[in-house]
Amino acid sequence: MTFAATVLTLYPDMFPGPLGISLAGRALERGDWSMDAVQIRDFAKDKHRTVDDTPAGGGAGMVLKADVLASAIDHARSTNPGAPVLAMTPRGKPISQARIRELAAGPGAILLCGRFEGFDERIFEGRDVEEVSVGDIVLSGGECAALMVLDACIRLLPGVMGAASSGTEESFEDGLLEYPHYTRPVEWEGRTIPEVLRSGDHAKIAAWRKRQAEDHTRSRRPDLWERHVDARDQSASGARHSTKD
Ligand code: SAH
Repeated sequence: MTFAATVLTLYPDMFPGPLGISLAGRALERGDWSMDAVQIRDFAKDKHRTVDDTPAGGGAGMVLKADVLASAIDHARSTNPGAPVLAMTPRGKPISQARIRELAAGPGAILLCGRFEGFDERIFEGRDVEEVSVGDIVLSGGECAALMVLDACIRLLPGVMGAASSGTEESFEDGLLEYPHYTRPVEWEGRTIPEVLRSGDHAKIAAWRKRQAEDHTRSRRPDLWERHVDARDQSASGARHSTKD
């Protein structure tokens, strides 16, 4: 099955961009996914092809018009049926690896890229649109955000990454940051690879990696750690319940 990406943007030349090279690029050539970059301006209603207007209530910048956006979204839905519409916005729900997995398992995605001050708010009421943020930063446009979301999806598509296991052991997949990696030389600038990784004792290595992942998550990402502990406790109590039944 092909993962169909439709991107609604004022800058279609930005696509596939970096997704045209390396793993994603080869997967695109093979037809594992497809890319349709649609010019939002083509859905403008006037002869000047206007896509934006000044903000109601005043203030700096320009706002993308709801009527133009709606026509672009309706067009995308008709050419890419079944795919959810994701609007890139710093006001959206932070994207997660769990959501990326769901998207990658589906038929594709329609990604709406903002520019200027963003979208007329009524588009989120008038159309079924999921507001997505790629982090607490402000980009100049949604295109880089859309590329991030697509890159994360594409690498999960069957056959795109070489070793299947490298998709499941990574940061966030079990709610933890990944353990640290090392490779040859054994000694570099006086620093050596941890002894345990050279021991050949796979059980010991697995235990060390688990502890490292936990320690790093606890100290670097207390938010993730709290969620991980909650989930672990919940599944432990769930397991206890089910053995009683
Ligand atoms: N005035 C807006 C920012 C607009 S930035 C605000 O303060 O919320 C212009 C466009 O860049 C946005 O419409 C959005 O499409 C994109 N963008 C900026 N930061 C983003 C982020 N963190 N995640 C997703 N999209 C973002």
